[in-house]
Amino acid sequence: MTTRISPLTFHSRRPDAAAADAATTARVLFIVPPYQVKPSSVSSKKGVRSFLAFPYGVLTLATYIQRNAKALEDQFILDLNIPDTRDMNTRIAEALDTHRPTIVAISLMFDVSYRHVAAISAQIKDRDPGTLIVMGGAVVTASYGEILAQQPHVDALCYSEGEQALCRLVDAADRTAALADNPWVTRQSLASGIVPSADYIEDLDIAVDIDYELVDVKAYSMKEAFSPFASYRNERNVKQFFIVTSRGCPFKCVFCAEPSYHGRAMRYASVDAVIAHVEDLVRTYGLNVLTIYDDQLLLDTARAKELFRRLAAFDIRVEMPNGVTAVFIDAELAGLMKAAGVDTIFLALESGSEHVLKNIIKKPIRLDRLKPIIDNLHRNDIFVQAFFINGFPGETDADRQQTYEFIRSHNIDWSLFNYATPLRGTELYRQCVENGWIDDRHRGIGDVDMTDYIIRAPGIDPVRIEQHNYLMNLDVNFVHNTRMRIGDYATAIRCFEEVIDRHPTHAFAHYYLADAMQRAGGDEAAIRHHYDAYLSALQADPIWVEHARHFGLPVQATALSA
Ligand code: SF4
Repeated sequence: MTTRISPLTFHSRRPDAAAADAATTARVLFIVPPYQVKPSSVSSKKGVRSFLAFPYGVLTLATYIQRNAKALEDQFILDLNIPDTRDMNTRIAEALDTHRPTIVAISLMFDVSYRHVAAISAQIKDRDPGTLIVMGGAVVTASYGEILAQQPHVDALCYSEGEQALCRLVDAADRTAALADNPWVTRQSLASGIVPSADYIEDLDIAVDIDYELVDVKAYSMKEAFSPFASYRNERNVKQFFIVTSRGCPFKCVFCAEPSYHGRAMRYASVDAVIAHVEDLVRTYGLNVLTIYDDQLLLDTARAKELFRRLAAFDIRVEMPNGVTAVFIDAELAGLMKAAGVDTIFLALESGSEHVLKNIIKKPIRLDRLKPIIDNLHRNDIFVQAFFINGFPGETDADRQQTYEFIRSHNIDWSLFNYATPLRGTELYRQCVENGWIDDRHRGIGDVDMTDYIIRAPGIDPVRIEQHNYLMNLDVNFVHNTRMRIGDYATAIRCFEEVIDRHPTHAFAHYYLADAMQRAGGDEAAIRHHYDAYLSALQADPIWVEHARHFGLPVQATALSA
């Protein structure tokens, strides 16, 4: 990003006179601590974005209190991820001095942000010990006891969703007393043995219509998920916005913390409310890419069909990078999705082994029902990607081989592999702690790096899991690429180009891009360029030579020209 932007967004409003009698008016400062760990040219870890995304959770809260809190005087969002030449301390000091907040709400959606909390909260209390510091987000819900023990300057934590709780806090005549009620968690409530419970919004229509005027839209650089059809490579000026149209998930996958955050009962915004919001984003900001971040978008298939039927009117691209549950997609829904602008779908399959799905992950997927569903998506010209996770305790080589065979036999176009990772708040974390399958050094908040395989369970060789994941990726996405196999070189070329965009020295992407170009009768100079880039990558990193030999690829220029 080259444009310098203001890190602060400030909104003032006149508080409701009657409410102001009952409560002192409140000024709220939202702080989004840093979460970015890599430059945008490098692929992201799961749960940690490498691009600058809108702070959707904070925007939901800020929109809600903007419309509903009667005693709200001002609110402002300080997103510390927005590039700025000044250090964090200076930026926070400026925000505190300018806006003199009554309440500071720190958003903790990513574990990696946790390391900043102590310094931020100390600085706030240093300036004014009377400022109330509250904190919320997925990390807080999973680890509230430890956080309160470790963060003396934080007054209260919000368990699960916070819109209604924050609104009540703003309007309370006695804000300290208001923190005694659920979903707030305090040292006192913990000492009294109170178990926190969530305060879910039932009517999501009031939460879906995010007010993007609360941030500087130009400051954010969203990035579309991997796809041969992602728009950002094209001339088209991408205007991408998030939306979450439902909350909750009735399933209990062992690796997922989602049900403990939004609950197991599904709640939906009405299709009317979603469409009205999209209309507004198109009209106001020229939205042309809609990123739907629901966890279970398709469970209510009638609603999903109605949603896609009406999205088709906008002529936009629609992506669902969280993945969808394949079994809900019938022929009609596949057609409606395509017409609405879905060119790529991510299926959250996790494994090609019935045993792993049923007995280890506890995910109710019937693999025997997937072939016609995937064929159907292909008939609708939708590029089919799937998520897989390897390395669960109890999983065997035979299970992983079944995953490999499933990918090949079902013509999955692109597969994304992750390691089984015991994130806090998940059943897998509980199992790993109870059985001593993770080291103490991975048990602190923010200590888990999802790019490393950290489980040490009997019968699992971690080196083998890491090798297996990487080789399976090279095998199914490059060496036996589905689109190459069926002669769709144009799509294969776009895939490999997209990999190179994200990983410029990916040897296999250069090799197979050259191969696909050659088969498609492409430009000789461009083909040569990518073969040369392949050889340069091999020279620069011996691991590529090892991988090339493993798959029988040439490792010398002479072999390439032969
Ligand atoms: S992985 Fe998906 S289906 Fe499983 S519990 Fe999480 S949100 Fe639900």
